Amino acid sequence: MKLINLLPWHRENWSLLCRYIKQNRIPQALLISGPEGFGKYDLTKHFAYSLLCNNRREDASYCKECRSCRLIESNTHPDLIEIKPEEGKSTISVDQIRKIVADTNLKPQFEGYRAVIINPADAMTLSAANAFLKCLEEPAERTVFILITAHSVKLPATIISRCQKLDIKVPEKSALLEWISSECINQNQETLINLLKISALKIEQLSDKTTLKRRADCFEDWLGVASGSCYPAIVAEKWQKIPETELLNWLISWVSDLIKCANRIDAKWLCNLDFSKSFQRLSEKIDIKELYSHYSHLLKTQQQIGTSINFQIMTEEFLVQWSRLNGRY
Ligand SMILES: [Zn+2]
Repeated sequence: MKLINLLPWHRENWSLLCRYIKQNRIPQALLISGPEGFGKYDLTKHFAYSLLCNNRREDASYCKECRSCRLIESNTHPDLIEIKPEEGKSTISVDQIRKIVADTNLKPQFEGYRAVIINPADAMTLSAANAFLKCLEEPAERTVFILITAHSVKLPATIISRCQKLDIKVPEKSALLEWISSECINQNQETLINLLKISALKIEQLSDKTTLKRRADCFEDWLGVASGSCYPAIVAEKWQKIPETELLNWLISWVSDLIKCANRIDAKWLCNLDFSKSFQRLSEKIDIKELYSHYSHLLKTQQQIGTSINFQIMTEEFLVQWSRLNGRY
């Protein structure tokens, strides 16, 4: 696991977690909740690493040098356990949880704490959640469970009530700007902040420098379908390389901006400010009623991500609709 730096908007949350460490009041279970895409997992790792570190700094952060920190970095610390949906699945199974219940009956391997991260906690099936309750009812030695979720309403009240809660809010613009600058991303900062705020982009996607290039290419293809210079079927095939959620988030934000333009809303309210000229141009000859229907088509497709649908066929379907909307076909 890569050792990471604290995100600027987590400072307040972090100081609360520091207090737990400094006062040695480590909760048995911690529920970290908040909107998708603002680094809940990063904050969790900070806390877990510090708990496990043998030589914490004065400010309670981990040293990055001790044996424990080195084991974390090489992904081999026996007391750092992560539970997430298995490859190709969207849920955390009861068997995964039963294994943890059995493992945490034993002492941690080292003298320090053991951290068990469940991410996302709302992916636990109902039976998994019931099995997990056992962990919370019979505390294991020196063990902290850290649950991460963007949908805490999906968790059973019996679990929520047994956790200390930490709610991560959508960051202030200034904190996002500070982070974007520290990552040396100089282009379209306003647009990026807008996209982060509506969760159409996640900070980990932005850290990956290829994301913005992918977004620009994808937008070109989308314009190409509108102008009739690209075929929906060919673009749909090409887009299969883009993560489904990412693709749908972008398209939805573009169509939403287009709806704003068609309704003559001031361009400063657009989310994708860098594409505003294209939206203005497209909106001049578009039927607004059909545009709304296209928007709901995209939303419906978004809800079907992760089910057994054929994503390429669905992509082609909404691209054909998009092309008709622009007077092609
Ligand atoms: Zn350390």
